[in-house]
Amino acid sequence: MIKAVRGTRDLLPPDTDLWNRVEAQVRDVFARYNYHEIRTPIFEDTQLFSRGVGEETDIVTKEMFTWEDKARGQSEKAQSLTLRPENTAGVVRAYIEHGLDKKGTLQKLYCIGPMFRRERPQKGRYRQFYQIDAEIIGPPSAGSESPLRDAELLEMLATLLDEVELHDWQLQLNSVGCAEDRARYNQALREALQPVVHLMCADCQRRAETNPLRVLDCKVPEDQPIIEKLPKIGQYLDEPCRAHFAAVQSMLNAVGIAYTINERMVRGLDYYTRTTFEFTHGGLGAQSAVLGGGRYDGLSESLDGPKAPGIGFAIGEDRLILALQSQGEKPAEKVQAYIAPLGAGMNRHALKLARELRRAGISADIGDETFRLKKSFESAEKAGARFIVIVGENEVAAEQFAVKNLASGEQVQVPRADLAAHLQR
Ligand code: ATP
Ligand code: MG
Repeated sequence: MIKAVRGTRDLLPPDTDLWNRVEAQVRDVFARYNYHEIRTPIFEDTQLFSRGVGEETDIVTKEMFTWEDKARGQSEKAQSLTLRPENTAGVVRAYIEHGLDKKGTLQKLYCIGPMFRRERPQKGRYRQFYQIDAEIIGPPSAGSESPLRDAELLEMLATLLDEVELHDWQLQLNSVGCAEDRARYNQALREALQPVVHLMCADCQRRAETNPLRVLDCKVPEDQPIIEKLPKIGQYLDEPCRAHFAAVQSMLNAVGIAYTINERMVRGLDYYTRTTFEFTHGGLGAQSAVLGGGRYDGLSESLDGPKAPGIGFAIGEDRLILALQSQGEKPAEKVQAYIAPLGAGMNRHALKLARELRRAGISADIGDETFRLKKSFESAEKAGARFIVIVGENEVAAEQFAVKNLASGEQVQVPRADLAAHLQR
Protein backbone atom coordinates (compact mmCIF):
# COMPACT_ATOMS: atom_id res chain seq x y z
CA MET A 1 0.00 0.00 0.00
CA ILE A 2 1.31 3.46 -0.87
CA LYS A 3 1.18 5.87 2.05
CA ALA A 4 1.71 9.60 2.50
CA VAL A 5 5.44 10.37 2.76
CA ARG A 6 6.95 10.67 6.25
CA GLY A 7 6.42 14.16 7.64
CA THR A 8 3.52 14.92 5.30
CA ARG A 9 -0.13 14.38 6.13
CA ASP A 10 -3.61 14.57 4.71
CA LEU A 11 -5.97 17.13 6.16
CA LEU A 12 -9.48 15.70 6.18
CA PRO A 13 -12.96 16.96 7.05
CA PRO A 14 -14.08 17.99 9.62
CA ASP A 15 -10.57 19.37 10.45
CA THR A 16 -10.45 21.20 7.12
CA ASP A 17 -13.61 23.08 8.14
CA LEU A 18 -11.63 24.52 11.04
CA TRP A 19 -8.69 25.34 8.73
CA ASN A 20 -11.03 27.16 6.36
CA ARG A 21 -12.76 29.01 9.19
CA VAL A 22 -9.37 30.24 10.45
CA GLU A 23 -8.18 31.24 6.96
CA ALA A 24 -11.38 33.17 6.27
CA GLN A 25 -11.05 35.08 9.58
CA VAL A 26 -7.38 35.78 8.94
CA ARG A 27 -8.09 37.15 5.44
CA ASP A 28 -10.76 39.36 6.96
CA VAL A 29 -8.32 40.77 9.54
CA PHE A 30 -5.68 41.36 6.83
CA ALA A 31 -8.20 43.27 4.73
CA ARG A 32 -9.04 45.57 7.66
CA TYR A 33 -5.33 46.37 8.08
CA ASN A 34 -4.97 47.04 4.33
CA TYR A 35 -2.87 43.97 3.49
CA HIS A 36 -3.20 42.38 0.06
CA GLU A 37 -2.38 38.88 -1.05
CA ILE A 38 0.77 37.89 -2.91
CA ARG A 39 1.28 34.36 -4.28
CA THR A 40 4.85 33.37 -4.99
CA PRO A 41 6.08 30.04 -6.42
CA ILE A 42 6.57 27.00 -4.20
CA PHE A 43 10.09 26.46 -5.53
CA GLU A 44 12.82 28.97 -6.11
CA ASP A 45 16.48 29.22 -7.07
CA THR A 46 18.44 27.60 -4.19
CA GLN A 47 20.64 30.70 -3.85
CA LEU A 48 17.65 32.78 -2.75
CA PHE A 49 17.54 30.79 0.48
CA SER A 50 21.26 30.21 1.02
CA ARG A 51 21.85 33.97 0.66
CA GLY A 52 18.55 35.20 2.09
CA VAL A 53 18.01 32.89 5.07
CA GLY A 54 21.73 32.44 5.79
CA GLU A 55 24.36 29.77 5.08
CA GLU A 56 24.81 28.79 8.72
CA THR A 57 21.14 28.43 9.70
CA ASP A 58 19.60 25.01 10.43
CA ILE A 59 17.23 25.55 7.53
CA VAL A 60 20.00 25.91 4.98
CA THR A 61 22.54 23.46 6.44
CA LYS A 62 20.18 20.52 6.92
CA GLU A 63 16.51 21.12 6.20
CA MET A 64 16.08 22.10 2.55
CA PHE A 65 14.59 19.90 -0.18
CA THR A 66 16.97 20.72 -3.02
CA TRP A 67 17.47 19.12 -6.43
CA GLU A 68 19.41 19.69 -9.60
CA ASP A 69 17.06 20.61 -12.42
CA LYS A 70 18.63 19.36 -15.64
CA ALA A 71 18.70 21.55 -18.72
CA ARG A 72 16.17 20.66 -21.42
CA GLY A 73 17.47 21.80 -24.76
CA GLN A 74 19.78 24.69 -25.41
CA SER A 75 17.52 27.43 -24.14
CA GLU A 76 17.71 26.21 -20.52
CA LYS A 77 20.52 26.05 -18.02
CA ALA A 78 20.90 23.41 -15.33
CA GLN A 79 19.86 25.00 -12.05
CA SER A 80 19.73 24.11 -8.39
CA LEU A 81 16.14 24.46 -7.14
CA THR A 82 14.66 24.29 -3.63
CA LEU A 83 11.15 23.87 -2.23
CA ARG A 84 10.55 27.01 -0.20
CA PRO A 85 11.33 26.48 3.52
CA GLU A 86 9.86 29.93 4.37
CA ASN A 87 8.39 32.75 2.37
CA THR A 88 9.95 36.08 3.37
CA ALA A 89 12.87 35.59 0.98
CA GLY A 90 10.43 34.82 -1.87
CA VAL A 91 8.31 37.90 -1.13
CA VAL A 92 11.39 40.14 -1.03
CA ARG A 93 12.62 38.60 -4.30
CA ALA A 94 9.24 39.40 -5.89
CA TYR A 95 9.36 42.94 -4.41
CA ILE A 96 12.73 43.51 -6.09
CA GLU A 97 11.87 41.71 -9.34
CA HIS A 98 8.68 43.73 -9.92
CA GLY A 99 10.17 47.05 -8.82
CA LEU A 100 7.55 47.47 -6.09
CA ASP A 101 9.85 50.00 -4.40
CA LYS A 102 9.09 52.40 -7.28
CA LYS A 103 5.53 52.74 -6.05
CA GLY A 104 7.07 54.70 -3.18
CA THR A 105 4.54 53.40 -0.67
CA LEU A 106 4.59 50.70 1.97
CA GLN A 107 3.67 47.28 0.61
CA LYS A 108 1.54 45.25 3.00
CA LEU A 109 1.52 41.73 1.61
CA TYR A 110 0.27 38.40 2.88
CA CYS A 111 0.48 34.83 1.68
CA ILE A 112 -0.99 31.49 2.82
CA GLY A 113 0.55 28.22 1.67
CA PRO A 114 2.78 25.19 2.23
CA MET A 115 6.45 25.27 3.28
CA PHE A 116 8.93 22.39 3.26
CA ARG A 117 11.69 21.48 5.71
CA ARG A 118 13.40 18.13 6.15
CA GLU A 119 13.10 18.03 9.95
CA ARG A 120 12.47 15.15 12.33
CA PRO A 121 8.67 14.76 12.19
CA GLN A 122 6.83 14.96 15.53
CA LYS A 123 3.75 16.67 16.95
CA GLY A 124 3.65 20.22 15.57
CA ARG A 125 6.66 19.60 13.32
CA TYR A 126 6.12 18.35 9.78
CA ARG A 127 8.09 18.27 6.53
CA GLN A 128 5.25 19.89 4.66
CA PHE A 129 3.52 22.45 6.85
CA TYR A 130 1.50 25.60 6.27
CA GLN A 131 2.34 29.19 7.03
CA ILE A 132 0.31 32.37 7.04
CA ASP A 133 2.87 35.09 6.29
CA ALA A 134 2.55 38.83 6.26
CA GLU A 135 5.15 41.46 5.45
CA ILE A 136 5.33 45.28 5.56
CA ILE A 137 8.12 46.45 3.28
CA GLY A 138 8.97 49.69 1.49
CA PRO A 139 11.49 52.47 1.01
CA PRO A 140 12.62 54.31 4.17
CA SER A 141 10.90 57.46 2.83
CA ALA A 142 7.57 55.63 3.24
CA GLY A 143 8.26 55.04 6.93
CA SER A 144 9.25 51.39 6.66
CA GLU A 145 11.81 51.71 9.45
CA SER A 146 9.43 53.32 11.91
CA PRO A 147 8.81 51.51 15.21
CA LEU A 148 5.14 52.30 14.57
CA ARG A 149 5.18 49.52 11.94
CA ASP A 150 6.51 47.02 14.47
CA ALA A 151 3.84 47.99 16.98
CA GLU A 152 1.08 47.99 14.35
CA LEU A 153 2.09 44.51 13.16
CA LEU A 154 2.19 43.12 16.71
CA GLU A 155 -1.15 44.74 17.54
CA MET A 156 -2.64 43.13 14.41
CA LEU A 157 -1.36 39.73 15.53
CA ALA A 158 -2.93 40.17 18.95
CA THR A 159 -6.24 41.05 17.28
CA LEU A 160 -5.95 38.17 14.83
CA LEU A 161 -5.34 35.60 17.59
CA ASP A 162 -8.20 37.06 19.63
CA GLU A 163 -10.56 36.86 16.64
CA VAL A 164 -9.76 33.24 15.84
CA GLU A 165 -10.34 32.77 19.59
CA LEU A 166 -6.98 31.48 20.66
CA HIS A 167 -6.86 32.09 24.41
CA ASP A 168 -3.87 32.59 26.71
CA TRP A 169 -1.19 33.24 24.11
CA GLN A 170 2.03 34.92 25.16
CA LEU A 171 4.14 37.42 23.27
CA GLN A 172 7.91 37.20 23.67
CA LEU A 173 9.87 40.15 22.40
CA ASN A 174 13.53 40.93 21.79
CA SER A 175 15.79 43.16 19.74
CA VAL A 176 18.77 41.64 17.93
CA GLY A 177 20.04 45.11 16.95
CA CYS A 178 21.73 46.03 13.70
CA ALA A 179 24.61 44.32 11.88
CA GLU A 180 27.24 46.25 13.88
CA ASP A 181 25.58 45.40 17.22
CA ARG A 182 25.54 41.75 16.27
CA ALA A 183 29.19 41.82 15.18
CA ARG A 184 30.14 43.12 18.64
CA TYR A 185 27.80 40.67 20.36
CA ASN A 186 29.13 37.76 18.29
CA GLN A 187 32.66 38.73 19.36
CA ALA A 188 31.60 38.78 23.02
CA LEU A 189 29.90 35.39 22.59
CA ARG A 190 32.98 33.95 20.92
CA GLU A 191 35.10 34.98 23.90
CA ALA A 192 32.58 33.73 26.45
CA LEU A 193 32.20 30.41 24.62
CA GLN A 194 35.91 29.73 24.24
CA PRO A 195 36.49 28.13 27.69
CA VAL A 196 33.23 26.10 27.70
CA VAL A 197 32.46 25.19 24.09
CA HIS A 198 34.20 21.80 24.33
CA LEU A 199 31.44 20.78 26.80
CA MET A 200 28.72 21.55 24.24
CA CYS A 201 27.07 19.62 21.39
CA ALA A 202 28.80 19.21 18.02
CA ASP A 203 26.49 21.75 16.35
CA CYS A 204 27.35 24.38 18.97
CA GLN A 205 31.07 23.70 18.54
CA ARG A 206 30.69 24.48 14.85
CA ARG A 207 28.39 27.48 15.47
CA ALA A 208 30.82 28.95 18.02
CA GLU A 209 33.26 29.30 15.12
CA THR A 210 30.99 30.27 12.24
CA ASN A 211 28.05 32.14 13.81
CA PRO A 212 28.03 32.18 17.64
CA LEU A 213 24.58 33.81 17.76
CA ARG A 214 23.10 30.52 16.55
CA VAL A 215 24.29 28.86 19.79
CA LEU A 216 21.33 30.56 21.49
CA ASP A 217 19.00 28.50 19.24
CA CYS A 218 20.42 25.22 20.56
CA LYS A 219 17.72 22.86 21.86
CA VAL A 220 20.05 20.26 23.46
CA PRO A 221 19.07 20.13 27.19
CA GLU A 222 22.65 19.63 28.46
CA ASP A 223 23.77 22.85 26.77
CA GLN A 224 21.13 25.05 28.39
CA PRO A 225 22.93 25.85 31.69
CA ILE A 226 25.95 27.05 29.69
CA ILE A 227 23.78 29.15 27.39
CA GLU A 228 22.00 30.74 30.38
CA LYS A 229 25.31 32.22 31.56
CA LEU A 230 26.30 33.76 28.21
CA PRO A 231 26.23 37.56 27.76
CA LYS A 232 22.85 39.08 26.80
CA ILE A 233 22.33 40.98 23.55
CA GLY A 234 20.60 43.95 25.22
CA GLN A 235 23.94 45.29 26.47
CA TYR A 236 25.32 45.43 22.93
CA LEU A 237 22.62 47.52 21.22
CA ASP A 238 23.73 50.94 19.96
CA GLU A 239 21.75 54.07 20.79
CA PRO A 240 19.45 54.12 17.68
CA CYS A 241 18.58 50.42 18.14
CA ARG A 242 17.96 50.92 21.85
CA ALA A 243 15.66 53.89 21.12
CA HIS A 244 13.82 51.94 18.40
CA PHE A 245 13.17 49.04 20.76
CA ALA A 246 12.04 51.39 23.54
CA ALA A 247 9.60 53.08 21.13
CA VAL A 248 8.10 49.72 20.09
CA GLN A 249 7.58 48.83 23.74
CA SER A 250 6.01 52.15 24.68
CA MET A 251 3.49 51.85 21.81
CA LEU A 252 2.61 48.28 22.85
CA ASN A 253 2.08 49.57 26.38
CA ALA A 254 -0.15 52.34 25.03
CA VAL A 255 -2.47 49.88 23.26
CA GLY A 256 -2.40 47.48 26.23
CA ILE A 257 -0.63 44.47 24.71
CA ALA A 258 1.27 42.42 27.26
CA TYR A 259 4.67 40.96 26.38
CA THR A 260 7.78 39.58 28.03
CA ILE A 261 11.32 40.39 26.99
CA ASN A 262 13.30 37.26 26.11
CA GLU A 263 16.90 38.16 25.37
CA ARG A 264 17.72 34.63 24.28
CA MET A 265 15.27 34.68 21.42
CA VAL A 266 17.40 35.37 18.34
CA ARG A 267 15.29 33.31 15.91
CA GLY A 268 16.52 30.81 13.37
CA LEU A 269 17.06 33.05 10.35
CA ASP A 270 20.05 35.29 9.69
CA TYR A 271 18.19 38.19 8.10
CA TYR A 272 16.60 39.53 11.27
CA THR A 273 17.51 42.99 12.59
CA ARG A 274 16.15 44.87 15.61
CA THR A 275 12.70 43.62 16.70
CA THR A 276 12.17 39.85 16.86
CA PHE A 277 9.19 38.10 18.41
CA GLU A 278 7.33 34.86 18.99
CA PHE A 279 3.81 34.12 20.15
CA THR A 280 3.63 30.93 22.18
CA HIS A 281 0.76 28.79 23.47
CA GLY A 282 0.72 26.35 26.37
CA GLY A 283 -1.43 23.77 24.55
CA LEU A 284 1.36 22.84 22.13
CA GLY A 285 3.89 20.99 24.30
CA ALA A 286 7.52 21.15 23.19
CA GLN A 287 6.80 22.98 19.91
CA SER A 288 5.21 25.93 21.70
CA ALA A 289 5.76 28.70 19.09
CA VAL A 290 2.56 29.41 17.17
CA LEU A 291 4.28 32.09 15.12
CA GLY A 292 7.50 34.00 14.80
CA GLY A 293 8.83 37.02 13.02
CA GLY A 294 10.87 40.16 13.06
CA ARG A 295 12.43 43.03 11.21
CA TYR A 296 14.74 42.50 8.22
CA ASP A 297 16.07 45.94 7.31
CA GLY A 298 18.98 44.65 5.20
CA LEU A 299 17.43 41.65 3.43
CA SER A 300 16.53 43.40 0.17
CA GLU A 301 20.05 44.81 -0.21
CA SER A 302 21.62 41.43 0.54
CA LEU A 303 19.58 40.11 -2.42
CA ASP A 304 20.94 42.93 -4.64
CA GLY A 305 17.74 44.98 -4.27
CA PRO A 306 17.17 48.60 -3.19
CA LYS A 307 17.19 49.65 0.45
CA ALA A 308 13.82 48.33 1.62
CA PRO A 309 13.46 47.82 5.37
CA GLY A 310 10.65 45.54 6.39
CA ILE A 311 9.05 43.51 9.15
CA GLY A 312 6.98 40.36 8.94
CA PHE A 313 5.85 37.15 10.56
CA ALA A 314 4.91 33.58 9.77
CA ILE A 315 2.12 31.83 11.65
CA GLY A 316 2.54 28.06 11.78
CA GLU A 317 -1.00 27.22 10.70
CA ASP A 318 -0.71 23.55 11.72
CA ARG A 319 0.25 24.66 15.23
CA LEU A 320 -2.45 27.33 15.37
CA ILE A 321 -5.02 24.62 14.57
CA LEU A 322 -3.49 22.23 17.14
CA ALA A 323 -3.63 24.99 19.75
CA LEU A 324 -7.29 25.72 18.94
CA GLN A 325 -8.08 22.00 19.14
CA SER A 326 -6.30 21.78 22.51
CA GLN A 327 -8.89 24.33 23.72
CA GLY A 328 -11.65 21.96 22.66
CA GLU A 329 -12.47 23.81 19.45
CA LYS A 330 -15.32 22.02 17.69
CA PRO A 331 -15.48 21.37 13.98
CA ALA A 332 -17.69 23.71 11.99
CA GLU A 333 -21.44 23.31 12.03
CA LYS A 334 -22.92 20.51 9.92
CA VAL A 335 -25.52 20.72 7.20
CA GLN A 336 -28.70 22.72 8.00
CA ALA A 337 -31.33 20.72 6.15
CA TYR A 338 -31.62 17.05 5.27
CA ILE A 339 -34.23 16.63 2.56
CA ALA A 340 -35.87 13.21 2.57
CA PRO A 341 -37.78 12.12 -0.55
CA LEU A 342 -40.37 9.44 0.28
CA GLY A 343 -40.16 7.35 -2.91
CA ALA A 344 -38.31 7.40 -6.21
CA GLY A 345 -41.04 9.57 -7.72
CA MET A 346 -40.18 12.27 -5.19
CA ASN A 347 -36.51 12.59 -6.18
CA ARG A 348 -37.06 15.35 -8.71
CA HIS A 349 -39.18 17.30 -6.20
CA ALA A 350 -36.47 16.87 -3.57
CA LEU A 351 -33.85 18.09 -6.02
CA LYS A 352 -35.98 21.12 -6.90
CA LEU A 353 -36.54 21.97 -3.24
CA ALA A 354 -32.83 21.53 -2.46
CA ARG A 355 -32.01 23.89 -5.34
CA GLU A 356 -34.37 26.56 -3.96
CA LEU A 357 -32.97 26.28 -0.44
CA ARG A 358 -29.31 26.20 -1.49
CA ARG A 359 -29.79 29.26 -3.67
CA ALA A 360 -31.37 30.97 -0.67
CA GLY A 361 -28.17 30.31 1.31
CA ILE A 362 -29.24 27.19 3.23
CA SER A 363 -26.81 24.25 3.28
CA ALA A 364 -28.80 21.19 2.30
CA ASP A 365 -28.28 17.56 1.48
CA ILE A 366 -30.66 15.11 -0.19
CA GLY A 367 -31.48 11.80 1.44
CA ASP A 368 -30.55 8.35 0.31
CA GLU A 369 -32.81 6.16 -1.76
CA THR A 370 -34.39 4.04 0.96
CA PHE A 371 -37.53 6.19 0.93
CA ARG A 372 -38.58 5.02 4.35
CA LEU A 373 -39.28 7.55 7.07
CA LYS A 374 -37.41 5.75 9.86
CA LYS A 375 -34.29 5.20 7.77
CA SER A 376 -34.37 8.82 6.63
CA PHE A 377 -34.43 10.05 10.23
CA GLU A 378 -31.42 7.88 11.06
CA SER A 379 -29.49 9.19 8.05
CA ALA A 380 -30.31 12.79 8.94
CA GLU A 381 -29.03 12.23 12.51
CA LYS A 382 -25.87 10.66 11.16
CA ALA A 383 -25.27 13.61 8.83
CA GLY A 384 -25.59 15.88 11.87
CA ALA A 385 -28.34 17.89 10.18
CA ARG A 386 -30.29 20.47 12.18
CA PHE A 387 -33.57 19.86 10.36
CA ILE A 388 -35.12 17.11 8.31
CA VAL A 389 -37.60 18.13 5.58
CA ILE A 390 -39.99 15.42 4.36
CA VAL A 391 -40.87 15.41 0.66
CA GLY A 392 -43.88 13.15 0.04
CA GLU A 393 -46.75 13.25 -2.44
CA ASN A 394 -49.08 15.08 -0.03
CA GLU A 395 -46.43 17.66 0.83
CA VAL A 396 -45.67 18.45 -2.79
CA ALA A 397 -49.39 18.72 -3.66
CA ALA A 398 -50.08 21.01 -0.68
CA GLU A 399 -46.89 23.09 -1.18
CA GLN A 400 -46.28 22.60 2.53
CA PHE A 401 -43.57 20.42 4.10
CA ALA A 402 -43.15 18.60 7.39
CA VAL A 403 -40.01 19.98 9.08
CA LYS A 404 -38.55 18.46 12.20
CA ASN A 405 -35.92 20.07 14.37
CA LEU A 406 -33.67 17.11 15.19
CA ALA A 407 -32.28 18.63 18.38
CA SER A 408 -35.58 19.65 20.02
CA GLY A 409 -37.82 17.07 18.34
CA GLU A 410 -40.32 19.80 17.43
CA GLN A 411 -42.17 19.08 14.16
CA VAL A 412 -44.21 21.64 12.19
CA GLN A 413 -45.78 22.12 8.77
CA VAL A 414 -44.10 24.97 6.85
CA PRO A 415 -45.40 26.50 3.59
CA ARG A 416 -42.89 26.29 0.75
CA ALA A 417 -42.48 30.08 0.61
CA ASP A 418 -41.49 30.27 4.32
CA LEU A 419 -39.16 27.28 4.32
CA ALA A 420 -35.82 29.06 3.84
CA ALA A 421 -36.62 31.60 6.57
CA HIS A 422 -37.72 28.81 8.93
CA LEU A 423 -34.51 26.81 8.38
CA GLN A 424 -32.34 29.89 8.79
CA ARG A 425 -33.43 30.36 12.37
P1 ATP B 1 10.89 26.24 15.74
O1 ATP B 1 11.71 26.93 16.75
O2 ATP B 1 9.62 25.70 16.30
O3 ATP B 1 11.65 25.25 14.91
P2 ATP B 1 11.32 28.18 13.69
O4 ATP B 1 12.06 29.26 14.39
O5 ATP B 1 12.04 27.22 12.85
O6 ATP B 1 10.40 27.38 14.73
P3 ATP B 1 10.10 29.92 11.75
O7 ATP B 1 11.02 29.54 10.68
O8 ATP B 1 10.22 31.27 12.31
O9 ATP B 1 10.12 28.84 12.91
O10 ATP B 1 8.60 29.67 11.28
C1 ATP B 1 7.49 30.35 11.89
C2 ATP B 1 6.50 29.38 12.47
O11 ATP B 1 6.26 28.30 11.56
C3 ATP B 1 6.95 28.69 13.74
O12 ATP B 1 6.71 29.52 14.85
C4 ATP B 1 6.07 27.46 13.75
O13 ATP B 1 4.79 27.76 14.26
C5 ATP B 1 5.95 27.13 12.29
N1 ATP B 1 6.87 26.02 11.92
C6 ATP B 1 8.20 26.08 11.68
N2 ATP B 1 8.68 24.88 11.33
C7 ATP B 1 7.61 24.03 11.33
C8 ATP B 1 7.43 22.64 11.02
N3 ATP B 1 8.44 21.87 10.61
N4 ATP B 1 6.18 22.10 11.13
C9 ATP B 1 5.13 22.86 11.52
N5 ATP B 1 5.23 24.18 11.80
C10 ATP B 1 6.45 24.77 11.71
MG1 MG C 1 12.86 25.34 13.18
